[in-house]
Amino acid sequence: MSWIEKYDVVIGLEVHAQLATNTKLFCGDSTVFGAEPNTHVSPITLGHPGTLPKTNRKAVNYAIRMGLACSCEIEKDNYFARKNYFYPDLPKGYQISQHTTPICKGGVVRIKTDDGSFRNVQLNRIHLEEDAGKSIHDLDDLYTCIDLNRAGTPLIEIVTEPDIFSAEEAYQYVTEIRKLVRWLGICDGNMEEGSLRCDANISLKPKGSNKLGTRVEVKNVNSIRNVKKAIEFEVERLAAILDAGKSVQQQTRSFDASNDTTFAIRDKEEANDYRYFPDPDLAPFHLTETFINNIAAELPVLPNELQEKYQKELGLSPYDAHQLSEELATSNYFNSVTELTDNYKAAANWILGPIRQWLHEHHLSIEELTLVPEKLVELLKLVDTGKVNFSVCSSKIMPLLIQNSNSTALAIAESLNLLQVSDTSELEKWIQEVITKMPDKVTEYQKGKKGLIGLFVGEVKKLSKGKADPKIVTDLLEKALQK
Ligand code: ADP
Ligand code: MG
Repeated sequence: MSWIEKYDVVIGLEVHAQLATNTKLFCGDSTVFGAEPNTHVSPITLGHPGTLPKTNRKAVNYAIRMGLACSCEIEKDNYFARKNYFYPDLPKGYQISQHTTPICKGGVVRIKTDDGSFRNVQLNRIHLEEDAGKSIHDLDDLYTCIDLNRAGTPLIEIVTEPDIFSAEEAYQYVTEIRKLVRWLGICDGNMEEGSLRCDANISLKPKGSNKLGTRVEVKNVNSIRNVKKAIEFEVERLAAILDAGKSVQQQTRSFDASNDTTFAIRDKEEANDYRYFPDPDLAPFHLTETFINNIAAELPVLPNELQEKYQKELGLSPYDAHQLSEELATSNYFNSVTELTDNYKAAANWILGPIRQWLHEHHLSIEELTLVPEKLVELLKLVDTGKVNFSVCSSKIMPLLIQNSNSTALAIAESLNLLQVSDTSELEKWIQEVITKMPDKVTEYQKGKKGLIGLFVGEVKKLSKGKADPKIVTDLLEKALQK
């Protein structure tokens, strides 16, 4: 019997997202990634005696944005606490965090479940805290190097309830978080650079039991795929322990990406004793209703809302609607196009097909696309009016129009002699030629093999070098073949 029948998997995720502010949470040091080590380290970052931190208003704004996007309750009376522990890359000997009053409480994140339907994952809280510096262990044989540039960078920690039930759901959840933080413009979501980091808490319990099992925590997994792999590995490992009649040790573990396994880094002490107390250097901060409402008013329409709108109001398929609401810039572009045409489906096809491919081939993002929505609509109309077929229009005209945005789609089509021929007398000549060339096929067709029509249309298109209007050709062929 496999573990699937015996145990329920329960997962809680803690995601740290580095906020995309220019400066640190409590001082003006730059947060830029990749600077020379230890160059953005003022006395405040270094925790020198006598220095006074000051809260970054933008970081507070960003945390609230995320909270509102996740339907959290926003805490009005906030304070920062000192979480005391020693770590070489924590110069003050404490981390400034939030303790009993996280800025955002509760809330939900909607994810796609294993059967394709959607469900809300319950959040416990989102709180603000500062990041530590970086210990680099592999630069020197004897010493650990410390870079304090990252120390003091603002983070939000997004903590779920134990409300995720498979590795795939965890994957979907982190994907959703990354999409949301990018959408809101509060974090670049770049996991390789450590802007988004995930700790996964995993436990198993006997199927149907309502008591949670002992958890293990896999720290700092640095890609979404690895979150899934780490959980898959842990589930197998925990199941084997339980199967052997042993009990699980509460443990902190780390993921080894070189072989997709995890290893223990420490046994979790019974209760952490961080000696939290309110930071006496930072005044508690009160958020007014107006401050919060102003942030709410500035929030962009959220991806889930857009997806629903695309399906319900524009009649797009769930797949297209989802793809178009993956990224704010793409949906903005699509929205502009829909103000210029009613053919929403065609607009979606163009953006998700040839345009996306062209951008990919040229390593560009949609923000860098020089084809303004008006120009895309010109292309779309050429196809809609039967002047050029879609494949010719997207492969030949679109690239030229992108490069030459002063021209028009029609002018390019004319200059390349690509306009479809819908003049029947010219089409009739090609049709007769094809009929004469394939007497056997004509007989087969006339005996009932109607599927051959596609072959004849294809031959006419070939003769016309792609310019014959396929709709008219089909009509004319059907008539000609009846004789
Ligand atoms: P800590 O501060 O030690 O990391 P928390 O109580 O804040 O502990 O919980 C951290 C995360 O662990 C949360 O996402 C929570 O949902 C999850 N969690 C707690 N207990 C379990 C459990 N038994 N199984 C799976 N996840 C759990
Ligand atoms: Mg934890």
